[in-house]
Amino acid sequence: MTSPVWRPFTQHALQKDAILVERGEGAWLECADGRRILDAISSWWVITHGHRHPRIVQAIKDQADRLDQIIFAGFTHEPAESLARRLVALTAPGLDHVFYSDSGSTSVEVAIKMALGYFRNRGVARNRVIALEHGYHGDTIGAMSTGARSVFNAAYEPLLFDVTRIPFPSAGCEQQTLDALEAACRSADAAVFVVEPLVLGAGGMLVYGADTLREMRRICAAHGVLFVADEVMTGFGRTGTLFACEQAGIVPDIACYAKGITGGSLPLAVTMCSAEIFEAHYSTDRARTFFHSSSFTANPIACAAALANLDIWESEDVRGRIAHLSAMQEERLRRFTNDARFSNVRRIGTIAALDLRARDAGYLATIGPALYEFFISRGLLLRPLGNTIYILPPYCIEASELDSLYAAIDEAGDRFR
Ligand code: PLP
Repeated sequence: MTSPVWRPFTQHALQKDAILVERGEGAWLECADGRRILDAISSWWVITHGHRHPRIVQAIKDQADRLDQIIFAGFTHEPAESLARRLVALTAPGLDHVFYSDSGSTSVEVAIKMALGYFRNRGVARNRVIALEHGYHGDTIGAMSTGARSVFNAAYEPLLFDVTRIPFPSAGCEQQTLDALEAACRSADAAVFVVEPLVLGAGGMLVYGADTLREMRRICAAHGVLFVADEVMTGFGRTGTLFACEQAGIVPDIACYAKGITGGSLPLAVTMCSAEIFEAHYSTDRARTFFHSSSFTANPIACAAALANLDIWESEDVRGRIAHLSAMQEERLRRFTNDARFSNVRRIGTIAALDLRARDAGYLATIGPALYEFFISRGLLLRPLGNTIYILPPYCIEASELDSLYAAIDEAGDRFR
C-alpha cells in the first residue's frame, strides 16, 4: 500500500519511497531493512551531540512524568522560566527577553513581527525588510518572503511581501554589499535587516567574514534599523563558537535560535530581543500587545530537553569536540583544494562544503538528487544543495566515519563529472 504521508520538499513522482528508520544512535541511523546510515547532515542540521544523548533522553522522560503541556498565556512552568534565565545569561548582554515558539521559520516570523511592532508602537512609519541575496529563513510566509525567491516559492509569490535585497558579500565584493546595505538603510521606511551570520545555509553553504558581519551590524545601528541574526542553523556550535555572532563580537537586536537548542531532539525555538523592543510592546494599551502565539508555545518537555542540552554544554567538553571536528574536517578537505573536479572548497567551524564542477547548466539542475542517491547507496546521508556537497555532522562523529564520507565524495568526483 502506498503511504498517505505527504513529505516535505519531496516530489513524490520522482522519489516514491522514504527510508523507514527505526533507531538513532550517535551519528548513526538504523533502518527497518537492516541498513545503517551515517547521518552526515545531522538530520537537517538539528542533531548536535548525536542521536539520543542519554541526558536529553532522561530529561524528556522525567519531564513527561511531571507535566506534558500547559497553556502558556496566564500560566508558566519551571523549565520555561529556567531556560529563559539561562539563555539570557548565556547570550551576549543585550538579549534580555525570550519568546518561545516551535520551529526556525516561526522564530524568524516572530522576529519580523517584533520589529514591525516595535516601530508601529513607537509611531514610526518604518516597515521595510532588508535581507541578503541567497538567504533562507524558513517556509512560513514572512520567512519565505525574506528568503531568496526561487522555484521553491514561485507559486506563492502573490502572498510574499517585497523585500530590499542586498548582494551576497562574496570574497572581494564585501564593500559592494556594505554600500548596498547602507543605501537600503537610508530609505525612510527601512525597518529591519534579517541575516544568517557568517554562513548562508540552504542558499549553498556560502561563507563570509566576521568583519563584514560586524560592519553590517554597525551600519544598521547607525541608521536605526533593527538587526536580526537568524542563528537557526549556526546556533549551538556549528560555526565553531556557541553562536556565530560571537566571532564578530556583535549583539543583534533580535536573535533566532531553533534546531540545536534541544540538541535536535524536540521542536523548540526562541526569538530573543533587547529590552527596548520588549518595552515598545509594554503598555496598558492592549493594542500594543505582541500578538503571536501557538498552542504549543514553550512546551515543557521541549524546554526540559533544551535545559539538558545546556547542561551538556556546561559539563562536557563540547567546545573541545567542536574544535577537534573542525580540525578533522580541515585536514580532510585539504586534498580537494587543488582538485580540478571541485571548486570553492570551504569550511566554517564544523561545516565543510565544496562544489562539484558540473559539465553544463542542465546537469547542474539534476545533480543534487543523483548525488543524494549515490551517497545513500554508500550508506551515507548527505543531501547536496545542487552541486554543493556539504558535511554538517553531529559533533560525536569519529575520524573513521569522516574518512568514509570523504572517500565517497572522492568517488562522486569521478562518477558525476
Ligand atoms: N533559518 C535558517 C537559517 C534555516 O537554516 C532554517 C532551516 O533550515 C530555518 C530558518 C527554518 O527552520 P525550520 O525548518 O525549523 O522551520
